[in-house]
Amino acid sequence: MKYHSLNYNSNKVSFLDAVRKGLAPDRGLYFPENIPKLSEKFIQNISSYSNHEIAFEVIHPFVGNEISKNKLREIIVDTLIFDFPIVPINDKIATLELFHGPTLAFKDVGARFMARCLNYANEIKSNKNLTILVATSGDTGGAVADGFYKVEGINVVILYPKGKVSAIQEKQLTTLGENITALEVDGTFDDCQDMVKSAFIDSELINEIELTSANSINIARWLSQMFYYFIAYKNRPNPEEKLVISVPSGNFGNICAGLVAQQMGLPIDHLIASTNINDTVPNYLNSGTYSPKKSKSTISNAMDVGDPSNFIRIQKIFDNDLFKIKKVLSGYHYSDSQTKKAMKEIYKISSYIPDPHGAIGYLGLKEFLKSTDESYYGIFFETAHPIKFADIVESTLKTTIEVPNRLKSILERTNNSIPIKTYQQLKSYLRER
Ligand SMILES: *Cc1c(COP(=O)(O)O)cnc(C)c1O
Repeated sequence: MKYHSLNYNSNKVSFLDAVRKGLAPDRGLYFPENIPKLSEKFIQNISSYSNHEIAFEVIHPFVGNEISKNKLREIIVDTLIFDFPIVPINDKIATLELFHGPTLAFKDVGARFMARCLNYANEIKSNKNLTILVATSGDTGGAVADGFYKVEGINVVILYPKGKVSAIQEKQLTTLGENITALEVDGTFDDCQDMVKSAFIDSELINEIELTSANSINIARWLSQMFYYFIAYKNRPNPEEKLVISVPSGNFGNICAGLVAQQMGLPIDHLIASTNINDTVPNYLNSGTYSPKKSKSTISNAMDVGDPSNFIRIQKIFDNDLFKIKKVLSGYHYSDSQTKKAMKEIYKISSYIPDPHGAIGYLGLKEFLKSTDESYYGIFFETAHPIKFADIVESTLKTTIEVPNRLKSILERTNNSIPIKTYQQLKSYLRER
């Protein structure tokens, strides 16, 4: 499989080159030359496949023979080290929990898969060390740190804004050591991002060290999210009914992977992009005009994105045809007070404790089911463990959440971050290490 840039001004590259580069040289996102179709036999017999086998069938056509089948299987086994349980909320609705990974958010799968592909690319291409540079407002950094932890030949440097990530998130970023370094930036998330951008265009620096990013536009992170949709389909509680999946969306990588899964032949009848008040895509679906905005802060902060990077990939899948997009995709947006109300409602009807992101997925699903006369079974994704948003969840539901064991140990570890303030300090750090 080859990948081309959506700015159409760079050469086509192989899977591993696209993973290594992240963004094409013309600053466009990479997109596969074509979307392969899976055999009907595979779809019909999906319940006889393990999650590892499903992931292999799904991702192999995108990787091609660049990674041997055995190595790819090894990477998948090492990526999917946890379960994805489905929990029914009522007769018509269930949630698929994507948060059972090491950092309790769904980004663990993409980060782990990408780390292992990159490690392999590094092994076969050169012996040069690779440095991953990433700015985080919280969740991404933790998943990347954990996903790349002890992966040979790769150093990870994470910039995070001082005092602006939660206590759990800070521990996840700053306590691992080994090949992971956290730089605590005296500034905002935007300052962190600006420093990362400066590094990538600093020719003196990039001549000395090979730098790459690990953000969600990387094809290895993006495409491996397809696994969730196949797992949802395989384990759906009511196989007789048509399936609709609602995805709490921010940068639109996850739902875009779902649309690719559907194009490959997975029988998902409809997808729902559920957002907070950062409603650029739901507005586009209603009005036909895409008008990006500055992001606004909400209680579902992992979705505070005003100009989602992956939206252009969704347009590409459907040849820019709004009519075709709307046939399979709906979008709804919700305020913080609606989110809290939904959290209470879910807790009341099923004793299930949702996090704010999952609650928005539930709201989108409910609104869609109300809008149609047809019968569907609906699944919404739970993208984070409620403990990651303990303050808001506990005060809204007036209950306490049990701290999972894998978190308890991390809370006792020591913060090893290095404080910095300027780009020059970042540069000296990268050059001297
Ligand atoms: C990143 C994230 C999202 C948004 O996912 P996208 O792929 O960016 O749309 C939703 N929920 C949580 C908890 C996240 O961390």
